[in-house]
Amino acid sequence: MTEASSSDASQPEPTVDGDGVDGDSGIADLLDKVVNLSKRRGIIFQSAEIYGGFRSAYDYGPVGALLLRNVKDAWWRSMVQLRHDIVGLDASILSPPAVWEASGHLQNFTDPLVDCRNCNERFRQDKLDDLTTCPNCEAKDSFTDARAFNLMFKTQAGPVEGAGHDVFLRPETAQGMFINFKNVLETSRKKPPFGIAQIGKSFRNEITPGQFVFRTREFEQMEMEFFVPPADAGEWYEYWCKQRHQWYLDLGIPADRIRLRHHDEDELSHYSSETADVEYRFPWGWDELEGIANRGDFDLNAHAEASGERLTYFDPEINEHYLPHVIEPAAGATRSMMAFLLNAYDEDVVNDETRTVLRFHPRLAPYKLAVLPLSKKDTLTPTALQVFDTVKERWMADYDETQNIGKRYRRQDELGTPYCVTVDFDTLDDQAVTVRDRDTMAQERVSIDRLVDYLAERLP
Ligand code: ATP
Repeated sequence: MTEASSSDASQPEPTVDGDGVDGDSGIADLLDKVVNLSKRRGIIFQSAEIYGGFRSAYDYGPVGALLLRNVKDAWWRSMVQLRHDIVGLDASILSPPAVWEASGHLQNFTDPLVDCRNCNERFRQDKLDDLTTCPNCEAKDSFTDARAFNLMFKTQAGPVEGAGHDVFLRPETAQGMFINFKNVLETSRKKPPFGIAQIGKSFRNEITPGQFVFRTREFEQMEMEFFVPPADAGEWYEYWCKQRHQWYLDLGIPADRIRLRHHDEDELSHYSSETADVEYRFPWGWDELEGIANRGDFDLNAHAEASGERLTYFDPEINEHYLPHVIEPAAGATRSMMAFLLNAYDEDVVNDETRTVLRFHPRLAPYKLAVLPLSKKDTLTPTALQVFDTVKERWMADYDETQNIGKRYRRQDELGTPYCVTVDFDTLDDQAVTVRDRDTMAQERVSIDRLVDYLAERLP
C-alpha cells in the first residue's frame, strides 16, 4: 500500500525535497521546533508543569525515556560490553564530605558569580559575552565583583540536622570510580590498562541553567576512568580522544557538526596535563558534549592521602608498586541526547505538505518499528496483535490503531520510527504486510514469516 492509497487516498505520490533544515534560515528556529516537538510527542516535558514549571529540571516522557535509554545503552555497549578491559559500576549518589574534601570539590568546584546591581539577576561571569553590559536589563557597568559559588547540593543524612550529618549529592560520577578503585582491582581480575565505567545522575546548582536540557541542575553523565601505567598515559589519551569522537560519528552525527577541540594551556584545570572537548555545533554555536582529560595520578593520590588507604597497583612483571595515571572521557547523557535530537530533526515536503521527521540512527530510535492495522476493524486487530507479538521480544515496537493511516505514518515519522508495518485486508489472504521506510517512504510487501529476518537485516 502506498501513502497515496491510505485513507488520504486523494494524495499523489510523495516527493522528497531533501533540504531538511540545514540551511541558515532553518537553524535559527531549530531549537524552538525541537522543544515544541518534544512536548507534543512526549519526548521531554518541563518538570512540575502543572505547578507552573520548575526551570532547572526536565522530565523525559514515554518517547524521551526510550531515547535517553538508547543513548546510554549505545555508550555502555561500546564502553563496557564490547571491551574486555572495562568494567561497570553503579555507585551511590549521596556521599560524605570527606570524599569531596579529598577530591578538591569543596574548595574548587565553583563558578564565578556576579550580580547585576540594577535588576538583581545573577550570571556566571565566564559565560558572559560582554562584561560591561547586563544581558537582562542592559545596564552598563552594573556587575558586582565575582565571587566563587560552590555548585554542590548539600543535604542531611538522617533525622538530625547540623555538622556531622551533612552529605552531598554528587556533582559528577567520577569520584565513585576513584573511591572504588581498590575494590574493583581486587575483585575484577583486571590490571592496568583497564577502565571503570558508570552512567548516572549528577547534580550541580548551576547559576544559569538553560538552553533546554543542555544545562540543567539534575542531569545524567556517562563517565569512564581508564587506569594506565604512567608512561603510557599520553598514548592512551590520544586513543580515547579518537574513540570518543568516532562514537558520535558512528551514531549518525555528520563530520561537519562534531569536532574534537584540544584545550590551550591556559584552559587546563590544575590536575590535567591534556584535555580535549568533543563539541557539537548547536544552534547557538560549538559547545561541549564531552571532555577527555589526562588527569595523571591526581585523584588516586588525593584519595590515598586523605583516606590512608594504599591505592597503588603492584605490577609483578616489574616488581613495583605504582599509582596508575587516569584518562577520563566524561560525557553528558542528557546533553548528548539533545544533540542527537537536534541532529535528527528534519523537514521535507511530501504531497505539498511539510513532513517533520526525526532521522535517528536506528540504534537510537525510540521505537524500532510500529505495527499499524490499516483500520480499527475487529477483523484486522487479531492479526496485527499477532504481528506485534512476533516482533516485541526483539525490538521496542509501538502499536497504534487510532486515526487514519496517513496521520499515523506522520506521527511515527515525528517519533523517528525507522519502519512502519501495516496490516491490511490483503494480509488476511496473503499473510504479508507492508513495510514502510521512514526516510525514503518506500514500501515493500513482506510475508509475515520473513518479517523478523527482513527487519533483522536492517535494525540493530
Ligand atoms: P560546562 O563547562 O558546560 O559547565 P563542564 O566542563 O563543567 O561543563 P564536565 O564537568 O566536564 O563539564 O562534565 C562532563 C559532561 O557532563 C559535560 O561535557 C556535559 O555533557 C555534562 N554536563 C555537565 N554539566 C551539565 C549540566 N549542568 N547539565 C547537563 N549536562 C551537563
